[in-house]
Amino acid sequence: MSTLVFLEAADDVGLQALSFARRYDPAAEVVAIGAAPQVAATVHVAEIDGYAPQAWARAIASLSPTTVIAAGTDRGNEVLAHAAVMLDGVLAANVVAAEGDRITRQRWGGSLLEEAQLHGDVKLMTVAPHAVAIEEATGEPTVQPFSPPLQDTDTVARVVERVETSAGGLSLAEAPVVVSGGRGLGSAEGFAPLEELAGMLGGVVGCSRAVTMAGWRPHTDQVGQTGTKIAPDLYIPIGISGATQHMAGCKGAKKLLAINSDPEAPIMATADYAVVGDALEIVPAITAELRRVRGQS
Ligand SMILES: Cc1cc2nc3c(=O)[nH]c(=O)nc-3n(C[C@H](O)[C@H](O)[C@H](O)COP(=O)(O)OP(=O)(O)OC[C@H]3O[C@@H](n4cnc5c(N)ncnc54)[C@H](O)[C@@H]3O)c2cc1C
Repeated sequence: MSTLVFLEAADDVGLQALSFARRYDPAAEVVAIGAAPQVAATVHVAEIDGYAPQAWARAIASLSPTTVIAAGTDRGNEVLAHAAVMLDGVLAANVVAAEGDRITRQRWGGSLLEEAQLHGDVKLMTVAPHAVAIEEATGEPTVQPFSPPLQDTDTVARVVERVETSAGGLSLAEAPVVVSGGRGLGSAEGFAPLEELAGMLGGVVGCSRAVTMAGWRPHTDQVGQTGTKIAPDLYIPIGISGATQHMAGCKGAKKLLAINSDPEAPIMATADYAVVGDALEIVPAITAELRRVRGQS
C-alpha cells in the first residue's frame, strides 16, 4: 500500500483532501470507518463502533501506508497525529500543495505559506480546509472490509454520547450563510437577534473567541484559527473586530458583510459590504425588513 486517504465523509473538505491525494498519487486508495463513502476509489472499510481516535489511527496504520492524507478537520488532525506515532512517520498539517517530500503548507493561520521537506519514510499530511479545488471523479467505490488489530487501550478515549445542536443538523463548516457575533454584542442574550437572522437566511450562528472565552457560546460555534474554518456564500460578522486569528477562519467566505460601530475596525477593510452602527439596532432592523419583503409582518 502506498498512498491512503483517510476519508471521514464525502463532504466538501473530504473531497478536497481526496482530490489533493489524487494529484499527489493517482493510485491513492481510501480508508474509512463504519461505512464506505460514495467515491470512485478502492475503499478499505473498518468496522469500529463510534469515534475513537486511537482505534481509527490503528486501522489506518494496520494497512501499512507510506503516505497518509486527510482533511485538516479536528478529527483528521487528531487521527493522523496518532497514526504518525504508530507508523513512526512525519506529519505536516494545513498542507496546500505537495510533490514527493516537498510540501507547501499554511502557517500563522494562513497568513503565510511555508515550503518544507518531509524527512521520513512514512509521510502524513492534513489538507488545509477550503484551500484546494475539488476535482470530480465518477464511479462507484470498490469496497474492501477489513478488521484492524485493535488493542485494549485503543478505545479508552471514545465518543459515548452525542447531543444535537439547535442548528438542526446544519454544521458551521458547511452552512451557506454564517451570522457571527463578537464581544460587541455585550452578552449571551445579545445573540437572540442573530439566531433569528440566521434562521431567516437558512444559516447558522457562529462567534469569535472573545465570546467563547466569556462563556456566551460553546467552542463549537467559534470561527477562526483555533475554531472552525468556514467558506460560506455569505459571512456576516457582527460586533467582531477582525483579528488575524478570526480572519484565518473565514477567509474562504465568498462575500463578507460586516456590521460594526467602529468604521476603523480592521474587519471593515476586508468586508465586501459594511454597515457602521450599533448591532443591537441594525440586526433587528434587517430582520424586520426581511419579514416585510417576505410578507411575514
Ligand atoms: C493563539 C490565538 C488563537 C486565537 N484564535 C482565535 C479564533 O479561532 N477565533 C477568534 O475569533 N479569535 C481568536 N483569537 C483571539 C483574537 O486575537 C481576538 O482577541 C478575538 O477574535 C476578538 O474577538 P472580538 O472581535 O469579538 O472582540 P474585540 O476585538 O473586542 O472586538 C469587538 C468589536 O465589536 C465592536 N462593537 C462594540 N460594540 C458594538 C456594537 N454595539 N455594535 C456593533 N459593533 C460593536 C467594536 O468596535 C469591535 O470592533 C486567538 C488569539 C490567539 C492569541
